[in-house]
Amino acid sequence: PKLSKEDVLKKAEELGVEFIHLQFTDIFGVMKNVSITREELEKALNDEKMFDGSSIDGFVRIEESDMYLRPDPSSFTIYPWSGESLEARLICDIYNPDGTPFEGDPRYILKRALKHAEELGYGFNVGPECEFYLFLTNEKGEATTVTHDNASYFDLAPVDLGETARQDMVKTLKQMGFEIEASHHEVGPGQHEIDFKYDDALVTADNIMTFKMVVRIVAQRNGLHATFMPKPVYGIPGSGMHTNMSLTKGGKNAFYDPDGELQLSKEAYYFIGGLMKHARAICAITNPTVNSYKRLVSGFEAPVYIAWSSRNRSPLIRVPAKRGSSTRLELRNPDPSCNPYLALAVVLEAGLDGIINKIDPPESINRNIYHMTSEELLGSNIDRLPVSLEEAIKELNSDDVIKKALSPHTVERFITAKLDEWDEYSAYVTPWELERYLTKY
Ligand code: GLU
Ligand code: MG
Ligand code: MG
Repeated sequence: PKLSKEDVLKKAEELGVEFIHLQFTDIFGVMKNVSITREELEKALNDEKMFDGSSIDGFVRIEESDMYLRPDPSSFTIYPWSGESLEARLICDIYNPDGTPFEGDPRYILKRALKHAEELGYGFNVGPECEFYLFLTNEKGEATTVTHDNASYFDLAPVDLGETARQDMVKTLKQMGFEIEASHHEVGPGQHEIDFKYDDALVTADNIMTFKMVVRIVAQRNGLHATFMPKPVYGIPGSGMHTNMSLTKGGKNAFYDPDGELQLSKEAYYFIGGLMKHARAICAITNPTVNSYKRLVSGFEAPVYIAWSSRNRSPLIRVPAKRGSSTRLELRNPDPSCNPYLALAVVLEAGLDGIINKIDPPESINRNIYHMTSEELLGSNIDRLPVSLEEAIKELNSDDVIKKALSPHTVERFITAKLDEWDEYSAYVTPWELERYLTKY
């Protein structure tokens, strides 16, 4: 049962909660919070907490800076790592002073996409697979890219710091109400994955934000640094956030059709068609950093080509073998540096565009695309994902469906900031260049 305002007040009182963190996420996927004491909780629950939006990246201009936080009572959760003073959090929506939802609030953007789906009769369930690295910190406590872990995929490694930390993360997440489905060592040394149960997309986006916070806090308490940076080290696998998705209709899985080809419904095929059509623009949101594109290269189980398959793991979209109520699509390009609210909003709108406009996907590719020769690829009409942030931003700028999903306000702020990021990176002289050219010329 979902908690109401009154439930939250009562619970905070009973448990003796001292501090409440009012959380929200900026458009770049960074969690922000304002902390209040329990005495102010009632006011906060009545939407009386104001903050200055102009100091948040990508939000608003100075002259229109007053914003209101509206806590979602159902998100009330105790921090299991609280010290003597018990702490809790509430996830908030952002409102303008006139009481209308703020267009630049990522949570609102996802809610709007979900409403669109609902109007068409659909619910949207999402289960993410977040990968991350655990690195050592130096004497000053700063993050490094060094790991003392030599384990790989599904390894049981002797009980090292990494495994202890991962177990600690799982325990903490469970205390916060997460249902953990699996946790394992990933392919890279020091790389891990923890999977939690799918849920309605809004709950899942909230969960992803909480998950990243917990993983980082628990890592720190174990003397390690957790990073969700997509490709922290050259030459070893990057960290993805595979996104498993399904639509529901009338309480049933709308992607499942026992009589359909591969037992998939028409909707499933159109959804794939929509995702593929908009894939290049979606990347700007699901792979939003300069570094994201260093993960999307051949040889590390990350997708490079826009293709789908029911058998192979190399393409952009995979249809896992499970059918019935577990029928789903796995989108493999997103990485955990994305803003999960915006990412789920754009993938949903892309899929719905496929359904609305009956976009048939191309034939599936059931062999490993990495093993196809360049000639085979050229002859096959298989398109690539963008190779850089700049290319992805250009694609976003020319895709009206995806732009509409994000709202003009967010598109403008996002594109401006990301082009700045790209320009700065382009002008930067990297160690690779020095190594390559300094003595050669
Ligand atoms: N780490 C890989 C990636 O960058 C994915 C590995 C896997 O299939 O779980 O997407
Ligand atoms: Mg994985
Ligand atoms: Mg996967």
